[in-house]
Amino acid sequence: MSSRTETSKTPEFGLSGRKIIYDEDGKPCRSCNTLLDFQFVTGTLKARGSGNSSASPVADSTQSPGSGELAAGAATDISNTSADQPLLIPGSKTYSKSGPADVEELGRSSWTLLHTIAAKYPNKPSDTQKQEMKQFMTIFSHVYPCGWCAKDFELFIKENAPKVDSKDDLGRWICAAHNEVNEKLGKEKFNCDLWKKRWVDGWD
Ligand code: FAD
Repeated sequence: MSSRTETSKTPEFGLSGRKIIYDEDGKPCRSCNTLLDFQFVTGTLKARGSGNSSASPVADSTQSPGSGELAAGAATDISNTSADQPLLIPGSKTYSKSGPADVEELGRSSWTLLHTIAAKYPNKPSDTQKQEMKQFMTIFSHVYPCGWCAKDFELFIKENAPKVDSKDDLGRWICAAHNEVNEKLGKEKFNCDLWKKRWVDGWD
């Protein structure tokens, strides 16, 4: 059941209050929007509780487990509804009905990859390792699946060349890149002096 009440076929803003991003073909971009907004704009948002006209819309978390969190500032409750939904794909005892990543799940996973790459980067990298790391960051900024995120990351790299001379240099550079996005999204900046505790050594 769709809970969308918009009359326009292409709403400009989603329930999170964020602008809806559309692909070149005019379809909402899954990896550029939050799951809530994507399901809102595609009319696949479910209402909480059957037969209740004042029911709150809920995101179908079986499509993207772990990503059904409400974006900051959103007013809508989207609790996990998996308890009353079939979780496994037909014919499998293992695989849940996970769907494509939204902008938040994609972001969390990607930052985990990037910070962990820095955590495993040598303290004294060879020239080849330095060169490859620069190339990787450039290519990553070209292929990142959220187009508008990718463009900003590409710009960040142009203005702040990747620092690849050591593990700590790279870790702090990625921390700064992450903070640039945090700031853009109105989030608190992370203290980059603590990047190793978060991504290498763990907390005391
Ligand atoms: P995340 O920001 O994903 O952070 C995950 C964890 O990393 C945090 O819990 C914290 O422990 C740690 N952390 C946070 N900041 C830092 C830091 N500076 N250094 C080290 N560790 C840190 N989303 C958009 O909506 N618009 C964008 O333009 C956009 N651009 C992105 C560009 C890139 C290259 C990437 C990888 C992601 C981008 N995202 C963007 C996604 C966004 O950054 C978040 O990943 C997403 O909003 C989920 O946020 P979160 O609060 O779960 O935590």
